[in-house]
Amino acid sequence: MLDMTPKEVSERSALRINPAKTCQPIGAMYASLGIHRCLPHSHGSQGCCSYHRSHLTRHYKEPVVASTSSFTEGAAVFGGGPNLRQSLNNIFQVYNPDVVAVHTTCLSETIGDDIPSVVRKAREDGIIPDGKFVIHANTPSYVGSNVTGFSNMVKAMIDYLSSREFGSSKDVNVIPGYVDPADMREIKRMLGELNVSGIVFPDTSDVLDLPMTGSYEMFPKGGTTIEQIMKTGSSGLTISLGAFASEAGGASLESKCGVPFKVLDLPVGVHATDMFVKSILEITGEIRPPASMIDDRGRVMDLMTDMQGYLYGKKVALYGDPDQVIAMTDFLVSMGMRPVYVITGTPGKRFEDRVNRILGNDSSNCLVKASADLFYLHQLIKNGPVDLIIGNTYGKYIARAEDIPFVRYGFPILDRVGHGFFPTFGYRGAMRILTSIINTLLDRVDRDAPEERFELVM
Ligand code: SF4
Repeated sequence: MLDMTPKEVSERSALRINPAKTCQPIGAMYASLGIHRCLPHSHGSQGCCSYHRSHLTRHYKEPVVASTSSFTEGAAVFGGGPNLRQSLNNIFQVYNPDVVAVHTTCLSETIGDDIPSVVRKAREDGIIPDGKFVIHANTPSYVGSNVTGFSNMVKAMIDYLSSREFGSSKDVNVIPGYVDPADMREIKRMLGELNVSGIVFPDTSDVLDLPMTGSYEMFPKGGTTIEQIMKTGSSGLTISLGAFASEAGGASLESKCGVPFKVLDLPVGVHATDMFVKSILEITGEIRPPASMIDDRGRVMDLMTDMQGYLYGKKVALYGDPDQVIAMTDFLVSMGMRPVYVITGTPGKRFEDRVNRILGNDSSNCLVKASADLFYLHQLIKNGPVDLIIGNTYGKYIARAEDIPFVRYGFPILDRVGHGFFPTFGYRGAMRILTSIINTLLDRVDRDAPEERFELVM
């Protein structure tokens, strides 16, 4: 399918081909789903909302519910304020959520709709019932990416809801980043194992990884409650996992409520998980993590050591959302693998700086680029082949065209299952990623082995 991709790289500044990102509102919609009894609302045309819902549904394999202002030509010319007002009226009368999280789209941003004024008037006129909330984030898709949208909606949660009124507590807030429900669940499990009380927000576990019960619930049992989000303003510390998705939220909470924050890489791989665990231990005052966690860590190290012969020196092309790619680069380097192309579609020079810092002396052997696309990555691979490609589903076309082993990682994964259930975070998540990489490489060894080298035991 990509057989016609030319080998020769030409400079492009005004054209993206096969982007390595998606649009802002998708991230905002996903973050909103992590609030208990929240209805995400797309302020734009039905087409945008349908695309965002279907993209999330295809990744999480769960129906994603959201409402829309249903713009038509009239709204495009005269503004979408009346549509939003009518939508809020219908939403509270028909679906009765506790909170509506409004995000904008390219069209409503271009019109310049003043969402706070519309919401204020709706509240004054009794359209928004007492005790119910409407929050909003501006998410123009011609700026940033899905990660920016997630970050903006998390910041909106804080700006609208977090409060200092609950006194002060020793709770730790964790903003988990734009990650799957299994990773949010794993963070909560690890906090429990480390014996610390925390508020993880947003939290899509038990929202987008639901068991089948035979009955449909529009608002599932999961999600961070409004009361918990309010209480984040009284916590002792915020840990923002992933600078691109979570730092703005931590900074906003510090400036609004005085809660200090710390930015860590996503706890993907042994080193980044160590950093997360160490940060929690500093709070609890414990010197060592529990034995169960040390054992989990030891198992990952054991596997890494045992299979080093298959991992060492393997050249990897890695792409995706910046926080995931940064953390994965660190993990690959720690395994002795060699990332040679590391790209993200999200803009930001700090991505390149951070990855180059991780690579250290090897940075001169690796091409690191933000605001890049998969067409460019394919051209790089044509000019210098790799042993493995790691990234979201869209990379399968390159993998097929160039006959390179491929490990799915990040968002979106549209053609496989399991990512919603099994974490990539923590030592257990590291084990999952590691086995997936090793088994993919071993499958290739088997496929290419001549008869006399086709081994039963690896
Ligand atoms: S890029 Fe803009 S117009 Fe297209 S789906 Fe996203 S918000 Fe809608």
